[in-house]
Amino acid sequence: MSKPSLYGYTLNELKALLSPSFRAKQIYHWLYHHYECDVLCMNNISKNMQDFIQTHFSISQIEPICIEQSRDGSRKYLFQTRDGHSFESVLIQMRQETEHKSEKWTMCLSSQIGCKVGCAFCFTAKGGFVRNLSAAEIVEQVVAMKRHAQIPPHKRVNIVFMGMGEPLDNLSNVAQAIKILSELEGLSIAARRQTISTSGIAPKIKTLGELNLGVQLAISLHAVDDNLRSRLMPINRAYNIADVLAEVRKFPVDTRKRVMFEYLVIKGVNDDLASAKKLLSLLNGIRAKVNLILFNPHKGSAFERPQMSDVKAFADFLIKKGLLCTIRESKGLDISAACGQLREKIESSTALKQPQSYKIPSRVDMKSVDSINVSQETFIES
Ligand code: SAH
Ligand code: SF4
Repeated sequence: MSKPSLYGYTLNELKALLSPSFRAKQIYHWLYHHYECDVLCMNNISKNMQDFIQTHFSISQIEPICIEQSRDGSRKYLFQTRDGHSFESVLIQMRQETEHKSEKWTMCLSSQIGCKVGCAFCFTAKGGFVRNLSAAEIVEQVVAMKRHAQIPPHKRVNIVFMGMGEPLDNLSNVAQAIKILSELEGLSIAARRQTISTSGIAPKIKTLGELNLGVQLAISLHAVDDNLRSRLMPINRAYNIADVLAEVRKFPVDTRKRVMFEYLVIKGVNDDLASAKKLLSLLNGIRAKVNLILFNPHKGSAFERPQMSDVKAFADFLIKKGLLCTIRESKGLDISAACGQLREKIESSTALKQPQSYKIPSRVDMKSVDSINVSQETFIES
């Protein structure tokens, strides 16, 4: 059994484990403000405490083994776990609106290795389900990306659970990670800046609401009638559109926020105006925002990317009727953008079997980070 990682504890839990308890706050600062993952480098921590931690705990449990940099500033990270599995996270740099406004970052996190839900269009589904990620492995995705991209501790970061896996199928670990990510002495990412995206496990939407974490909810709807939705997303046979929307209507939504509905637009499948009309009536009475996502084709997929003109007509219809609707900017399209694609690319090459001996500095260090080249050529052996 490997030792539990310090990234898996809330501040209060760590205080209860360490004596004197003020050490917990100091360690939190090292972990989340300095991105330090070697306890021996935490130089205000006593030798005894360092020994205690080394005996009973670990820190880092995942390692980036491949990083792809997109021309638009997005980066896709492939992480390897201690037990030899891999999964992905994406760091998205949002556009700078003005010269004075600094950049914003969104991190797309994985909650599982693989996924049990098995959606027909999703690349992650192809590899089946391997295991849940622990709370520590979820939190460490954020620390590793902040460290590697040199994002200073105080910079605003948004989190979306839209990487690999179904977060509501791993709710206890995801909920624990959300609490740790929002700790003020740590990463301080407010729960309202964290979004859980779900394929619609209705009873778990209810549980999530009852937990009152304050997170945002996104529903992957993708179809407006049950026949089509069941074909695209087998989960719909257990919890259909009406079941999901009934839970959404009861979900506690921050008064400043809306429930996001993701609608994957697939050519000739769900891109017609009749579907837009039905979507409008389904969402009647819900403080909703629709996000149209253009299907991202991948190897072996039976579906096609829609025409932009059809997507625009779909969006225009909803907007004219007063629904908030955006077309999701396809960030990182020049890298393996849809979830699961980077993993596939690497696993089908030799890179995972012979990992690059690549180490990121444990602390933000301008000079050494400069020398890290994240271009595709460096990290991918295809
Ligand atoms: N399991 C959760 C969260 C992870 S999937 C869910 O399904 O909501 C995150 C989003 O990526 C979902 O909206 C999913 O439908 C979308 N997605 C999956 N495969 C895609 C593809 N090939 N192209 C574009 N989006 C895709
Ligand atoms: Fe799982 Fe989401 Fe992919 Fe469906 S879209 S298989 S729920 S990760």
